[in-house]
Amino acid sequence: MTSALLPTYARYALAFERGEGAWLFSTQGEKYLDFGGGIAVASLGYNHPHLVEALTEQAKKLWHTSNLFQMPEGERLARRLCDASFADTVFFTNSGAEALELTIKMARKWNAANGSAERFHIVTFQGAFHGRTLATIAAGGNAKYLDGFGERTPGFDQVAFGDLKAAERVIGPRTGAILVEPIQGEGGIRVGDRDFIRGLRALCDHHKLLLCFDEVQCGMGRTGKLFAYELYGVAPDILASAKGIGGGFPLGAVLATKEAGKGMTLGTHGTTYGGNPLAMACGNAVLDIMLADGFLDEVARKGLVLRQQLAGLTAAYPEIVTEIRGEGLMQGLKLTVAPAEFAAAARAKKLIVIPAADNVVRILPPLIVSDEEIRIGVDRLAEACAAMKAAKEPEKA
Ligand SMILES: *Cc1c(COP(=O)(O)O)cnc(C)c1O
Repeated sequence: MTSALLPTYARYALAFERGEGAWLFSTQGEKYLDFGGGIAVASLGYNHPHLVEALTEQAKKLWHTSNLFQMPEGERLARRLCDASFADTVFFTNSGAEALELTIKMARKWNAANGSAERFHIVTFQGAFHGRTLATIAAGGNAKYLDGFGERTPGFDQVAFGDLKAAERVIGPRTGAILVEPIQGEGGIRVGDRDFIRGLRALCDHHKLLLCFDEVQCGMGRTGKLFAYELYGVAPDILASAKGIGGGFPLGAVLATKEAGKGMTLGTHGTTYGGNPLAMACGNAVLDIMLADGFLDEVARKGLVLRQQLAGLTAAYPEIVTEIRGEGLMQGLKLTVAPAEFAAAARAKKLIVIPAADNVVRILPPLIVSDEEIRIGVDRLAEACAAMKAAKEPEKA
């Protein structure tokens, strides 16, 4: 039967009916180890008792009231996020793209509030992904995502990721901000190096620009820090979060300093659903776990375990895996074969990994993954490598 869904996705012939920890169970009764986490969303895995309880308890009380009313659980979550970060203020959204839209609006409005409305241009980077709205596809600059959707939203000047000199050169009288993923996700787990990220902070300070980090994928514990910027020893002025922040419930957030948010006065932005009671219950429950003593240290430790074991793949299958890169539980395998084909080979071994650009597959296990599960996952990756190697050299098979 043909699908009634708009065919914008090439979906795998695989559906899941339940999950438990790092494992997914298909409608055919097969058990998969999930090293994709629904694209870094299932940060605490599936069926986490604390999240399930928080969601179901809230579901019995109140789902939605709108932002016309006080939101006690939202106040609490915003306060906790500020206490745990550089930020003074938070706005909740339903998705990453919406968080980026507000990031862009806030940066523009800050410049306008400073009497420089002409400074609405933002420096962005090749390989970036910021979402699929009209502004965020312009910010990301991927021609495939822009094609056919009319005139590109103006105000984004893109340079090569990692090229500090090019970023400096492109800054002009209309530039008001820099927007970067400290670690590119969709772009292929490209880790911004320390000098580059710190250099962007210095450029922003020098030219009076706002530094905006898109941590939709690399934030919320993924790297072993609550936010990736902590790895660099510099803070942004605005940070967009989503994906892992809701543990599977649609939730995004924009974190900002008081100064960066100063243009966003009464009525300048809004959302119907953003920050509703169900989302806030889930967001608070996710933070309960992530901020618990030792949790993030464990993520960092398991990231090293994963990294060490993945290194064995480049040694054993240099003709398939040429590089391992990433931070914490956000790792990428740079491949000589098509990432989609590699991901299919991994699925055949009952392991889920996610293709990205730059010939990379992403390894994004839930942060609650165990050492034993890491070992099983890497074994299955090795099996996928062996299968790809055999397919590549049929004459020797
Ligand atoms: C996924 C992603 C987005 C977009 O998030 P959506 O929830 O799909 O709108 C933006 N930025 C980055 C870095 C992402 O990984």
